[in-house]
Amino acid sequence: MSGNDSSKSRSGSRTKASRGKASGGRPQHKRGGKQHGTRNGAGRPRSGGNRNGNQRVKEIHPSKFVNTAVTPVERPPYVATHTFDDFEFSKPLKQNIAQRGYVTPTQIQDVAIKPVLEGRDLVGLADTGSGKTAAFTLPMIQALLDHDFEGNVLIMAPTRELANQIDEEFRAFAKGLGLRSAICVGGVNINRQIKALRNDPHVIVGTPGRLKDLLQQGELPTHETDVLILDEADRMLDMGFIKDIRFICDTLPPKRQSLCFSATITPEIEKLLKDFLHEPVTCSVRTTENNDHIQQDVIEAESREEKIEILGELLTQPEFERVIIFGQTKHGVQRLADKLNKKGLRAEAIHGNKSQNQRERSLRAFKDYRAQILCATDVASRGLDIPEVTHVINFDQPPSYEDYIHRIGRTGRAGLGGHALTFVPRGG
Ligand code: AMP
Repeated sequence: MSGNDSSKSRSGSRTKASRGKASGGRPQHKRGGKQHGTRNGAGRPRSGGNRNGNQRVKEIHPSKFVNTAVTPVERPPYVATHTFDDFEFSKPLKQNIAQRGYVTPTQIQDVAIKPVLEGRDLVGLADTGSGKTAAFTLPMIQALLDHDFEGNVLIMAPTRELANQIDEEFRAFAKGLGLRSAICVGGVNINRQIKALRNDPHVIVGTPGRLKDLLQQGELPTHETDVLILDEADRMLDMGFIKDIRFICDTLPPKRQSLCFSATITPEIEKLLKDFLHEPVTCSVRTTENNDHIQQDVIEAESREEKIEILGELLTQPEFERVIIFGQTKHGVQRLADKLNKKGLRAEAIHGNKSQNQRERSLRAFKDYRAQILCATDVASRGLDIPEVTHVINFDQPPSYEDYIHRIGRTGRAGLGGHALTFVPRGG
């Protein structure tokens, strides 16, 4: 893209980039002709508060949304120390791995599979996109095969979509092995889930709220759980699931294996690890700290209407091929998608007010390139694996800088270039 190319027609006034970061820059998207004084990056405090909706928004200086001196860091590819053949997987499981097209383990798989196969508890510091799902799914399947399908594996994930993705991955690897899974997420009929649970599944994957409901109804066989997996634990805690997680974990047999994956370790996570894991091995393969390869810039706009007008111009440019736009509220995200559709763009929305089926349909349309744009809230987008996102646009500023990093991490994956644009108020 570029952000710049698309702003060529705009007034050439001083850019945020030049004020915020002396990074040699490219002009940024700026409308109107207002000039603002240079502040050498020390801009006047913004009115943090509720600019973006009803969620609390921490103050983030606009310079943090700018990285115009992109270093296309060619990270040397990770050289795995194992092949999938080195792991003690059964032949049919190895065949399923090959059939899925996995030839070399990713870093997290390389370091985590062995200790998990040995039955150790494990903390995996790994992001979405690192291949963490297979890092826990593959040894789990092997353990179930080794133990004659006894007991169950309980996987908790923050969102319905992530739970579905885990289940899909499990099913692909478990093909023909006689293993059953049950998916227990909110927003869909509970009776079918109860039926699936009564069918004695080997793997149960779900979101904490629904799992707790099922447990309280006496339908979740946690007393038979041999392995507990907490995926994206940091986000589950952010989403307020801590009580539900603890409620469920307190009913698990003390003698079990526990794995916890998280992008960050906060004191709250540490407490969780201390309470529910036993002498864990830690595998850290974090990658998102460095976003130098993502071209980041800001766009000045004062009102919602102005932002939508700018988006209408940007999104018709060919380089904006596959775009995720983040908004703060469910209503705001839906209204934005509606407005963009009215402009003749193909936009889908995912947020908590949509039913599970609607969310899945929207996501599918985006993944299949039938929709160019996915408007999303932070929560709904968490953990989604969508390759080749060309641009992330922050229609509303993220609630925290950490959320910003999570958001822009949706683009520039797998060594591809990425672009992130953030709307900021004019003259901030
Ligand atoms: P995850 O971080 O588990 O969501 O995985 C991210 C993406 O990488 C998914 O599309 C996986 O199917 C893919 N993936 C994971 N491990 C491998 C591997 N060893 N080889 C090829 N693709 C992989």
